[in-house]
Amino acid sequence: MDNRTVAIICHGGAGTITEKEDYARGLSEAIEEGYRLLRQGAPALEAVLRAVVMLEDNPVFNAGTGSSLTIDEVAEMDAGIMTQHGRFGGVICIRNVKNPVLVAEKVMTETDHLILAGDGAIRFARSMGFEDYNPVTEKAKRRLMELRQNGSKFFPRLNQRLGITEQKSGTVGAVAIDRNGNIVAATSSGGIAGRMTGRVGDSGIPGAGVFASPAGGVSCTGHGEEILRMLLARDIGERRKTLPAQTAVTLALSEAKRKKVLCGAIAIDARGGIGYGYTSPDMAYGYKAADRLFLFTDSRK
Ligand code: ASP
Repeated sequence: MDNRTVAIICHGGAGTITEKEDYARGLSEAIEEGYRLLRQGAPALEAVLRAVVMLEDNPVFNAGTGSSLTIDEVAEMDAGIMTQHGRFGGVICIRNVKNPVLVAEKVMTETDHLILAGDGAIRFARSMGFEDYNPVTEKAKRRLMELRQNGSKFFPRLNQRLGITEQKSGTVGAVAIDRNGNIVAATSSGGIAGRMTGRVGDSGIPGAGVFASPAGGVSCTGHGEEILRMLLARDIGERRKTLPAQTAVTLALSEAKRKKVLCGAIAIDARGGIGYGYTSPDMAYGYKAADRLFLFTDSRK
């Protein structure tokens, strides 16, 4: 493994993307920075964390600052990170922190646990020095108001009660392989706008929204309830044991499409091969490998 095989792929969510140029710009900045670190010899863990933090800090995306709100107007965020050696850290329904993915990494490195949720996750974050931070933006509040006027195809029961449209994209994820062949995957999400408070999505759950094994890494996005049911990231991981990343993603997603699940995934295999795909109208994604950057706006499906 040498410099030529380092690679990073990121996504900015599956769904309907209206601000394509903003998504592409945010993704390219994060990918270029992650790739620069990898080329300098940084571990995949560092490159993935840096890329995801940049995406979380960019209010265009639905993660960290700018996260989608629950029906009670609360930003509850999920994030997970996993290495190819099976190390995992996750946070679920965490509030009032700037970078959920960094707290997830601390769960992995500083605790005996895999996942911390809710108040316990917040208390742990504070003990690790993460300051109180309000990730709620005016835009996220407006989006919730718009949803209330329309209706979500994902949550018909909530619709009935509240009259809540269309799922916006914006969850973020990154997968990288470093020059030693180490692979790390991470996902961070503000969840689906208009969900119930306390709802757990796929992003912080190993095997669902994020997965890594010696065969490679995966980050998923889309309808969390269905991704959890399918254990989509694990499904792609299992297929990748014998198949290149792209074939594994394509096969898993054709199954998802058959089941009418709206989702998307990015992956890297142990040889540095890239894979991506989606069943939703759009997915924001991009990758850099062999010193070439590719963005979803470079070609249409
Ligand atoms: N998978 C995320 C969730 O269900 C949302 C998304 O990826 O858009 O929480």
